[in-house]
Amino acid sequence: MGQPLRRHSSTARFDGIAVSPGVAIARAHCLHEIPVGSVTDPIDESEVLAELGRFEEALQLTDHELAALRDKVSVQLGKSEAAIFTAHLAILRDEGLLEKVQRRIGQQRLPAAAAIAEVAYEYQQLLADVHDEYLKERVADVRDVLLRLQRNVAKITHHDFAAHDEPIVLVACELYPSDIIALTEANVVGIVTQTGSRTGHAAILARSYGLPAVAGVTDILQHVNSSDTIVVDGSGGHVFVNPGRETLRAYRERRSEFARLKTDLAAEPRGPAHTADGQTIALLANVNCETDIREAIAGGACGVGLYRTEFFFLTHPNVPDQQQQTENYRQMIAHCPGDIFTIRTLDLGGDKTISYLTHTHEHNPHIGWRSIRLSFAHPKFFLTQLRAVLAAAANQDKEVRLLFPMITVPDELDEVHKLMRRARRQLKKRGQPCGKVRIGMMIEVPAAAVALDAFLENVDFVSIGSNDLVQYLTAADRDNPKVSHLCQALCPAVLRVVASVAATCHRTRTPVTLCGEMASSPRAVPLLLGMGLRNLSMSTAFIPTIRDLIGRLTIPETQAVLAEVMKLKTARQVCETMDRYLAARAPHLLPLVLA
Ligand code: PEP
Ligand code: MG
Repeated sequence: MGQPLRRHSSTARFDGIAVSPGVAIARAHCLHEIPVGSVTDPIDESEVLAELGRFEEALQLTDHELAALRDKVSVQLGKSEAAIFTAHLAILRDEGLLEKVQRRIGQQRLPAAAAIAEVAYEYQQLLADVHDEYLKERVADVRDVLLRLQRNVAKITHHDFAAHDEPIVLVACELYPSDIIALTEANVVGIVTQTGSRTGHAAILARSYGLPAVAGVTDILQHVNSSDTIVVDGSGGHVFVNPGRETLRAYRERRSEFARLKTDLAAEPRGPAHTADGQTIALLANVNCETDIREAIAGGACGVGLYRTEFFFLTHPNVPDQQQQTENYRQMIAHCPGDIFTIRTLDLGGDKTISYLTHTHEHNPHIGWRSIRLSFAHPKFFLTQLRAVLAAAANQDKEVRLLFPMITVPDELDEVHKLMRRARRQLKKRGQPCGKVRIGMMIEVPAAAVALDAFLENVDFVSIGSNDLVQYLTAADRDNPKVSHLCQALCPAVLRVVASVAATCHRTRTPVTLCGEMASSPRAVPLLLGMGLRNLSMSTAFIPTIRDLIGRLTIPETQAVLAEVMKLKTARQVCETMDRYLAARAPHLLPLVLA
């Protein structure tokens, strides 16, 4: 994509949501310099041809992707599900639509991505005025195709900075989880986004890669250019554009202190954590791809508490079949540290969308037709994943656990068991290997947390998904910066529910892990230990920090601070109490606490 003219923006400070701790100082790279309404500098006359070429390249890539998706989906999900891609291909090949984009590049000299964004915006406006549901869907399809095209232009543009030796801070309107996975190849040292919040999946990934990040910085793309120097204070939630000498000096110092702290923590012994009074706490890893397994080993995780399989699907060029899935799971299990490997079935929806499963537009996607609800709706497709897991679990010396997300009512577990039996029968009939797995459920829907007793006879273990539990309990979208003040893990209501789940699990002797972001929060961990939780699963980047913290705590002390906190009324009061508690026991870890 043609870069805007290299002009420097004036010095400015922006405040957003602290998402991933640490300090980054580097040149800005504005990824989405094209949101409609932002100032987009025209490309030079001499760049027009190259830009049209880039657009053509993205067109072919998109055509290829859609055709591959149509074919795979037709085999795995059925012809009617694949019809959407036939329609999308027809839209993509529509001359009139393409001319609209080409005209904007050729005549208005807009970069390809901006030209597509403008046309997409036109359709969005149209969508707002259409009342007929059928027509609405068609206009939405055109927008989907344009967005895919736009992302492919960006993907082609990604090569620009993937090749950069110079470190960059990525400034983007919005990042999807798959973007962040793709970015790990590039020399990105920090991230700033206009949208997003603390427990969205893009944020979780930024943390797991140790990239300082700030989200929810409204309009920053209108104030920063790709040549600007930018400072990201990921712990404080601040961003400085072209800062003065004093600010730069102070942040360079903080960056060095932070790096020293990380090195010191990483040098500490591996394995399970032990409290100062000798209680063992299992520290497991949350992983999203094979690279994360290597990190988990390096970080000393004692197993994998959560493999989010949707990332394998999100990054796969089309739809992985049974064999491809089995191969992936087998590799992951084989390289997993420790003796537990937990695979979660597809958990799509919300901010994790795959065109072939989540293409219908929903008014409330986080509480809609998503996650296991979507899997149940596509039994053939779901059975493929179940068979792949069972086959991968064969001949393993590790305990393979299969975790089902977003379970809401006990009947869903009956359905899970029915499908598991069918998957086993299918494998047997085909003469394929079938291993043993333990069955577990995520506790992330309040209905399941509150009526937990009714579910437990049907599971071998449970895992508390605090990220979703928090958003559903507080009715505040985990990815929306406008309601992030409500979506707080340390709010008393959340603490009461997590404590009650822990108590029920202990009473019934059900193994329980917590695998949401609370498990890696220094403020939350003492409280979780006080509640009796002994298995915590987190991004590997946090394991050394949490191990160090746990070594400084005793169980009676954690119970005492929990009792104190349980009397408080607001999340702010809980945070203040925990900051005082940490300042007394582990002050060196305070730079890692998110503001
Ligand atoms: C959770 O909800 O806490 C969880 C671990 O799953 P995810 O973040 O993928 O929704
Ligand atoms: Mg969840």
